Amino acid sequence: MKPPAGIRTALARGWRKRCPHCGRGPLYTGWLKAIDRCSYCGLVFARDHGATWFFIIMGDRAILLPLIGLIYFGVLRSHPILAVLLFFLVAAAFVWTTPNRMGACTALHYLSRAAFGDEDDPIPRHHAGDPGGADSRHGVDSRA
Ligand SMILES: [Zn+2]
Repeated sequence: MKPPAGIRTALARGWRKRCPHCGRGPLYTGWLKAIDRCSYCGLVFARDHGATWFFIIMGDRAILLPLIGLIYFGVLRSHPILAVLLFFLVAAAFVWTTPNRMGACTALHYLSRAAFGDEDDPIPRHHAGDPGGADSRHGVDSRA
């Protein structure tokens, strides 16, 4: 099954902390308190707790990978001031982008759910003429 929202669109929406399906409902209240379902289209963001763990682990490691490479190749041992600056830069980026990365991980999970098309997985339908995604709560699958 083709994802209702394109891959780039869904990832961009997730990065902006919006529902990957419609792009309108928020993923979080506050800084990082997850919401169970989209307030606009009704998409359930994670059916089971821990369902997004694979994507979250990948999202966490992706930002640390360049730093691990620099440590592995000894670049930071020969440049201690660069090592300290880089540590704080990566730590700040890691914390600052956490909601964005988690949103992108939610979008990846959504895309995998849409791609595999589970009959029991309630992904709202799209309405014709709605370029941004689902039109309203009326698009929610009645089995949800
Ligand atoms: Zn939505």
